[in-house]
Amino acid sequence: MFTERRALGSRCYKERVNDSNAYRRLPRVDALADEASVVATGASAALRVEAARAELDAARGRIRAGDTSDPRSGLAARVVTRLTAALQPTLVPVINATGVIVHTNLGRAPLPRDAVEAGLEACTLEYDLGTGGRGSRRAHAERLLTALSGAEAALVVNNNAAAVVLMLSTLGARHEVLISRGELVEIGGSFRVPEIMELAGVTLREVGTTNKTYVSDYENAITEHTGAILRVHPSNYRVEGFAHRPEASGLAALAASNNIAFLHDLGTGTFCDLPAPLDAQMSPSEAVAAGADVVSFSGDKLLGGPQCGILLGRRATIDAMARHPLARALRVGKLTLAVLESVLLAYRRGAFHEVPVARMVRAGRESLRQRARRLAERMAEACGDAASFEVGDSDDLVGGGSHPGDVIRGSCVRVVPSVASAGAIAERLRHGEIPVVVRVQDGAILLSLRTIPQDTEADLVRALQACLATFGDT
Ligand SMILES: *Cc1c(COP(=O)(O)O)cnc(C)c1O
Repeated sequence: MFTERRALGSRCYKERVNDSNAYRRLPRVDALADEASVVATGASAALRVEAARAELDAARGRIRAGDTSDPRSGLAARVVTRLTAALQPTLVPVINATGVIVHTNLGRAPLPRDAVEAGLEACTLEYDLGTGGRGSRRAHAERLLTALSGAEAALVVNNNAAAVVLMLSTLGARHEVLISRGELVEIGGSFRVPEIMELAGVTLREVGTTNKTYVSDYENAITEHTGAILRVHPSNYRVEGFAHRPEASGLAALAASNNIAFLHDLGTGTFCDLPAPLDAQMSPSEAVAAGADVVSFSGDKLLGGPQCGILLGRRATIDAMARHPLARALRVGKLTLAVLESVLLAYRRGAFHEVPVARMVRAGRESLRQRARRLAERMAEACGDAASFEVGDSDDLVGGGSHPGDVIRGSCVRVVPSVASAGAIAERLRHGEIPVVVRVQDGAILLSLRTIPQDTEADLVRALQACLATFGDT
């Protein structure tokens, strides 16, 4: 017993000595932070010291855990890796080859590059060059939105959720707002119509049923407490079969004759013609013409602009919303307005191809098929036997929680890899120098031409070639 304890004690002692030797071999923080490779990252002295300290802590942890290797080896490289990761953006561009045009997780609408640059410099956001005095932030977009939609007035806020909150807060607060039971929807996680109504301080009054609601249901529910009728486009789901929704114009007429407001959350919309079946949904101009007091929709869905919420409507109504205290909290900045103006100008000129989303939505199947053929050939040439390439059909989608179930037929390159599974290739494509996001189906990678910008095709070929080559090596 006694000898055993002594033996144990001596082992502990020896370990402690080893430990303290190991600890002593670690460099000082400043020395590590000033190593040439660490300095070469371009990080400030303060950041280098912070990273060196973190890596020294980690090294001490490894010694405590019994790691007997030289604690100095690879230490500077770890600091470099830590600094590089810390200083790299995590919001990086990707090639979207999924065929989903307005991909919510990929930043919704891809923007025209020139448009983004327009917002970078000092600009006439609230400056009138004519008078040299204060100008109107609202005027830039309003001029174009009214011309494009036929509405009397327009207002732009942070997103469509904000637009709905603002219209309800201005026109329905402390009143009852009527809404069909078929429209009490949840759109994209946190936008739930009943909760938004509660937030805006309106009393929700449900009318009709989930599948069928008539004008008479609204009519019977109108009392002296009613402030507005709200219509919400059930963007991300569809009631089919035994269903009825009244025409927007019918609700507008009912609202007008009862002196209450008709508010129409359209969700999405644009100012160019759309191919079938997308043309079945009401456009913003049609919603305005149908007599709504306010129409709202997102700037970064089908319109193909920046994240914002667009409100169109009657002059008095829109002005009342602009004066509401919330409008200041929900307003947009110059980057948004510059991109929006540029996109709206493209629509005004009829230059739809300049707006990436419009170009993608309207691309014809035959032109996509031709691009797919050429891309498949280039890929086959670059990648040898690492995969086979063929042209296939693609079921493309608008995405962004709109036009549920509306498939636009397109074309894709089907890549069947021979060096690894399609899933493994897809995963590695996401980690390449230019990340590529793809669909995997039946052991093949599908690259849909509709969402692949033509000027990124060469990058895509290189990315796939590099990715397949890494599997060939192992
Ligand atoms: C998308 C959508 C919203 C939310 O719009 P955001 O711009 O994402 O805030 C609200 N209502 C409808 C009907 C929608 O489709």
